[in-house]
Amino acid sequence: MIRSVLAGFAATLALSTATAAEPVLYRNATVIDGTGSPGRAGMSVLVDGERIAKVLPNDRLPAPAGARVVDLTGKYLLPGLVDSHEHLATPPNRRQAEASLRRDLYGGVTTVRDMADDLRAVAELTRASRKGEIPAPDIHYAALMAGPSFFEDPRTLAVSYGFTPGKTPWMQAIDDRTDLREAVTLARGTSATAIKIYANLPADLVRKITTEAHRQGMQVWAHAAVYPTTPAEVIDARPDVISHACSLGHQVAGTPQTYQSRTPMDPAPFLGADNPVVAALLARMRDQGTMLDATTSIYATIEARAAADPKMKKPLCSGAMSDAITHQAWKVGVDISTGTDWVAPWNDPWPTLHHELAALVKLGMPPAHVIRAATINGARAAGQADDTGTIQAGKLANLIVVAKDPTADIANLKTLELTVKRGREYRRADFKPLTKVEMEDVE
Ligand SMILES: [Zn+2]
Repeated sequence: MIRSVLAGFAATLALSTATAAEPVLYRNATVIDGTGSPGRAGMSVLVDGERIAKVLPNDRLPAPAGARVVDLTGKYLLPGLVDSHEHLATPPNRRQAEASLRRDLYGGVTTVRDMADDLRAVAELTRASRKGEIPAPDIHYAALMAGPSFFEDPRTLAVSYGFTPGKTPWMQAIDDRTDLREAVTLARGTSATAIKIYANLPADLVRKITTEAHRQGMQVWAHAAVYPTTPAEVIDARPDVISHACSLGHQVAGTPQTYQSRTPMDPAPFLGADNPVVAALLARMRDQGTMLDATTSIYATIEARAAADPKMKKPLCSGAMSDAITHQAWKVGVDISTGTDWVAPWNDPWPTLHHELAALVKLGMPPAHVIRAATINGARAAGQADDTGTIQAGKLANLIVVAKDPTADIANLKTLELTVKRGREYRRADFKPLTKVEMEDVE
């Protein structure tokens, strides 16, 4: 018995090493490498297995023997894009998640930050994606922590099926009596790489969770307001990334006691001129290196839907207010990542991320800055900057090829021809559009 199990294991190993393809030379591209430096024409990139082996001018990088050559004359080569705010399993729906991930990958997204879900489902999507069993970006995810009163939220039941909400390793109710060392260790057991600090926690617990998570080598991804913890107190705790530019407005409008008692904020103090209170928050974020996962396109999207449907709740911020705070953050020099937190309709052929990128350009960020936000900043937000986010030797071969210059017009990212993830190629021409049935619970 043992022998046959071992034999099977050996066969599996042999199979996985046999799938390594020949080296690929992507030749004569204009490389926009994600570091923010200008595009360099006449560059070649050698990919060996799942990593980038060399990035050099054409004349210094002849094709090695046995390499496949892909001519990219006239085309642009960029790092794969990062969506730093998705929810892939609230509640779990494998068909829908796989469809959305397929649209992401074939639309240029090679990395996704999953911001808390039923992690039993997300872990399996992550594994299948990593193995190449499904066309999907790499996924990096957070386990959630919130105060006990948050777990009245019906979404927490949907992501804890079979268990009591707040008592699962992927979504824990935290109070003064919690052994935080144990709580963080339990979260690590889900293979999450970060703790998401969500809601209904006092400032001292936000700080203690952050300290313990960092001590155990996890990142901390926090909401900008944790109710009653104010944005200033969240920033004081020094999380790695803060989500939702909009919620920084609570420092001015007042921070409700709980997540459930939030009401839409008056946009007036944020429009027309930079708000000085927000300016102080942003300066601290910049100085201590806390990133902003702005998620700005969701507010105008909800606003438009609520305008069309009076039964829908208005968003916490107007689109204009969220855009104004995001613009202020960019001007001050806070590193912004590009998260969506919503899912584009099933008949949209492009990843939701493209809406966020367009919104950032519209609010005043130059396309080159938006590309940086969507590549190296996204990789940093996901804790993956050593592996992805730029085109450099040693990093994963996460690349996109576009026909027209996206620094001239961000919409040129939709001239995408090819996505490469971990060395595997996914041609835009092979993209199977989503069907209504696949996405039927998404409007
Ligand atoms: Zn979210």
